Amino acid sequence: MDLPTQNHLTQLRDLLSYRLRALRSEIDAAGQRRMEMPDGGPRDVRDRKEDAAEAMSSGIEAAEVERDVEEMAQVEAALRRLDEGVYGDCLDCGEPIPLQRLFVQPAAERCAACQAAKERLALHDR
Ligand SMILES: [Zn+2]
Repeated sequence: MDLPTQNHLTQLRDLLSYRLRALRSEIDAAGQRRMEMPDGGPRDVRDRKEDAAEAMSSGIEAAEVERDVEEMAQVEAALRRLDEGVYGDCLDCGEPIPLQRLFVQPAAERCAACQAAKERLALHDR
């Protein structure tokens, strides 16, 4: 597998910066929507069903935002690694992460083998 060249790193940095901006605006938009939510004045009993649906969708949204925040942290960490010149090395085994994988998942911290091992471990912990 080829090692990333400066040109590749520039492309990956662009991908990461773009993703970071997208995630930031998604998180901001979600925060805005929450602020605009009516603070639940007096309600009729018939509204209860709607309340449940609303609560459910805001629960889903909260989970999405949580995922976005998590991904944003990963993207920021990847940009830091780019700055430090250590980007693209697997955190666990230290081997270079294949370029192909980085282009699919620029924020990847581990090679596919170590990531799979880590996920297996996480499943066992549960
Ligand atoms: Zn590895």
